This record gives sequence, C-alpha cells and structure tokens, in this order.
Amino acid sequence: MIGYWIAGAAISAAAAWAWSRSRAAGRQGKSKIVNMNAYRSRKGRSDSAAAKPGSQLCSSCRKPAARLSFYSDENGRVVGLCRECKPSAERRQLDRL
Ligand SMILES: [Zn+2]
Repeated sequence: MIGYWIAGAAISAAAAWAWSRSRAAGRQGKSKIVNMNAYRSRKGRSDSAAAKPGSQLCSSCRKPAARLSFYSDENGRVVGLCRECKPSAERRQLDRL
C-alpha cells in the first residue's frame, strides 16, 4: 500500500517536474524562435546588401556579368573583367589568373 503511495508521489513529482520543464522549455523555445527570426532578418539584410551570387560586377565597366575573367593589373590588384572589357586587358598585357 505504501509502495503505491510512493509511486503516486513519484509520478506526481515527475509530472510536476515535467510540467515545469516544459514551461521553461516553452519559454526558451519562444525566445529561441525570436532570436532565429532576428538572426534571419539580419542575415537577409546583409544578403540583399551583398552582390547576388552569379552576377559579379566587372571591375572596369561595373556592369554585372555572369562570368568574369580575372587578371592582375599593373598595380598587382586582381580585376574581374567581363567579355567586353577582356580585350582591353589583353591589350594592356595583364596577367591572366
Ligand atoms: Zn566590363
């Protein structure tokens, strides 16, 4: 008989513990979701600010180009050139990377 009482007490204690834990977890989960949303919106802003992948800007004419050819210019800087600007780089005899 006392065994049942202990078991009952243990179960109710466990239930209370689980309940308080689930409440705590619920609060944590909620704040986590808020943090994730804030993180996502921050990330989204930085993504929109950055150049879209696949459309890089030509270092010479500043037009977005699907493919750039990379050269190192007279100052040793790396320049990405679109197809239109490539011949001028070849004329300047820049090193193709
Ligand atoms: Zn160009």
